[in-house]
Amino acid sequence: EAKQESVSAYRLFTPSLRQTRESAAAAEVQMKRGLDRDEFELHYQPIYGTKSGAIRSFEALVRWNHPERGLVPPSEFIPLAETSGFIVQLGRRVLRDACRAAADWPKPIGVAVNLSAVQFKDLRLVHHVREAIEESGLAPGRLDLEITESVLLEHSPRLLKTIEELRALGVRITMDDFGTGFSSLNNLRRIRFDRIKIDRCFTRELTAEDSDAEIVRTIVRLSRTLKMETVLEGVETEHQLEFARSEGMTEVQGFLYAKPMRASEIAGYLDQRRIEPDAALSA
Ligand code: C2E
Ligand code: MG
Ligand code: MG
Ligand code: MG
Repeated sequence: EAKQESVSAYRLFTPSLRQTRESAAAAEVQMKRGLDRDEFELHYQPIYGTKSGAIRSFEALVRWNHPERGLVPPSEFIPLAETSGFIVQLGRRVLRDACRAAADWPKPIGVAVNLSAVQFKDLRLVHHVREAIEESGLAPGRLDLEITESVLLEHSPRLLKTIEELRALGVRITMDDFGTGFSSLNNLRRIRFDRIKIDRCFTRELTAEDSDAEIVRTIVRLSRTLKMETVLEGVETEHQLEFARSEGMTEVQGFLYAKPMRASEIAGYLDQRRIEPDAALSA
C-alpha cells in the first residue's frame, strides 16, 4: 500500500518517470508555496464512544486545497512531503492549527493529530508539540498523537525517549493502523500506548466467523490486559458497529457516523450531539 501511495503521489506531479527527480523537487517548491499561502487545511472526523454513543474526539486529517487541482487527499502528497523532509514544517503547522481549532470548540473534547515517522526523527518534535499546546492553551490531555508502526521500525533508544518526553507533556499516544506492520505485538510490549486503532483492513473483512474477527478479538483482549483503549476505524456498517460493541471496543470511527468535515462545520455538528464530558481526560 505504501508503494502504491508514493506512485500516485508522483503521478500528481509527473507526466513521465524520467522526470521524477525534477518533479519531486518541483513538488516540494509547490508545497512550500502552498503552505505560505495557507492552502493546507484540516478536516475533522468524529470518534465516538462505543458504549455511550457520544462523541469523544475528532481526528484532524490534512488536505491540500490546490488552486488548480482542488482538494488533494493526503495520500497524494504526504509521501512526497516525507521524502523531501517538508513534512516537518507541514506537521508543525498541522499541530498548531489542530490545537488552536480544538481550543475554540464549544465543547472540551479531544483532538487527534497524525505524526509521520519523519517527524519523529526530527529533534524538534517535542518542541513543536509543546509549542502547539502552549500557544493554543489547549489542555494537553485533550491532544492525542497518532503514530503508525513505521515510526517504530527503528529500534533506537532515542525514539523511546521521545515518546516518554511527549507523554511527560501530558498528551496521549495512539498506535494507528494497528496490525499492518511486521512487529505489532512486540511494539505493544515495548511502548505504553493509551489506545490502539485497529486498521481499516480488518474492519472491512469482519464477518462473525472470519479469522479477521478472531484476530481483532485477540487484539482487544490483549489491549484490555495492557489497559489500553481500542478504536475500530473505518466503521461503515451497523454490523461492524455491532461487532465493536459486542467485543467491548472503546471507540469507533467511520463513515457510518460521519466523513471528515471542515473546521467550520464542527460547532454546528457538536450543537446537536452529545459528548462524553471527560473523554479526553479519562486515559
Ligand atoms: P489514517 O490516520 O489511518 O486516517 C484514516 C483515513 O481513513 C482517513 O483518510 C479517513 O478519511 C479514512 N476513513 C475514515 N473512516 C472511513 C470509512 O468508514 N471508510 C473509508 N473508506 N475510509 C475512512 P485520509 O483523510 O485520506 O487520510 C489518509 C491517511 O493520510 C491517514 O490515515 C494518515 O495516515 C495520513 N494523514 C492524514 N492527515 C495527516 C497529517 O496531518 N499528518 C500525517 N503525517 N499524516 C496524515
Ligand atoms: Mg490516524
Ligand atoms: Mg488509521
Ligand atoms: Mg488507516
